[in-house]
Amino acid sequence: MAESPVRDVIIIGSGPAGLTAAIYTARASLEPLVLEGEPSSTSDQPGGQLMLTTDVENYPGFPEGVMGPELMMNFKAQAERFGAEVQTVKASKVDLSERPFKVWVGRDTDGEPTYLAKSIIVSTGAQSLMLGLDREVELIGHGLSTCATCDGFFFRDQEIAVVGGGDSALEEAMFLSRFASKIYLLVRRDELRASQIMQDRAMANDKIEIMWNTSLVEYVGDTKIEKVKIKNNLDESISDLDVTGVFIAIGHKPSTSLFEGQLDMKENGYLKTQPGRTATNIEGVFASGDVQDDYYRQAITAAGSGCQAALEAERWLEEQE
Ligand code: NDP
Repeated sequence: MAESPVRDVIIIGSGPAGLTAAIYTARASLEPLVLEGEPSSTSDQPGGQLMLTTDVENYPGFPEGVMGPELMMNFKAQAERFGAEVQTVKASKVDLSERPFKVWVGRDTDGEPTYLAKSIIVSTGAQSLMLGLDREVELIGHGLSTCATCDGFFFRDQEIAVVGGGDSALEEAMFLSRFASKIYLLVRRDELRASQIMQDRAMANDKIEIMWNTSLVEYVGDTKIEKVKIKNNLDESISDLDVTGVFIAIGHKPSTSLFEGQLDMKENGYLKTQPGRTATNIEGVFASGDVQDDYYRQAITAAGSGCQAALEAERWLEEQE
């Protein structure tokens, strides 16, 4: 049974984008409902990717830094203080073909929708692709990272590894060369996927050593990474590599499967929004944060775009009335 009345706005996702949208729409008396997701071991969970980080030192307003989970708890408390309702459930289906929009949670997606809404803000985020090795999730923030901009600073004068051979990996490696004393770029094949200009720059960087045909196969260390085991993919031999940090840069995956066939997406699966805006191809549906951002991918830019989505939704709702 639909739990009417029709909501003014439903926000799907509870990272910096979703919860900022919640703060703004709640303060505009739109009584937003936030479907925050369900606990899991990936970034696809309440609070998003920051729940898997430790110190966040580049979020403005925290001169001493702040722990990722604490920051997200504060976002949530701030949204709830202004009346946002946060439900720990995952949206399992949406129907955006007509208004009010329909949202289902839980397994039964054949029956009546669980919620109806005049507008929807999609902030389902993105996930960094990982290698799938043992203890990978627990080591994030303890030597393992997916974001050089966020964590590079912690590896000053240390030897580290970057996994991947695309533009992201090379960009991360070059950024990290400002801090680390040595960067091993672990490339699983004998060629890079990155653009030629990035390859040229990386190869000209004295601190970067490319290890071809090499896969990382094990993280070693009790509470943090002390070294890793690598495999030579040509002769299958395993050896140790003494690094204290590992950056995984093998791509990202936006959480957009719920919207396939309904919202326009770019070739790489990220949601398409109007230039400089959060409006999608469906009037009344807005997208904010990493789910529509394959370029900046920062907590602060996600929060900014959550604010934009809230203001756009608010103005759009006003126009409807
Ligand atoms: P890509 O898909 O381009 O590259 C992924 C890289 O990771 C490849 O080298 C791939 O190897 C490797 N890889 C994938 N899975 C594994 C695995 N399990 N183990 C080891 N290696 C693995 O992703 P990017 O994030 O680098 O880039 C995404 C898009 O964004 C691209 O179009 C890129 O050009 C763009 N971009 C542009 C930038 C710029 O212009 N400044 C900066 C960053 C990204 P393999 O080749 O063997 O598949």
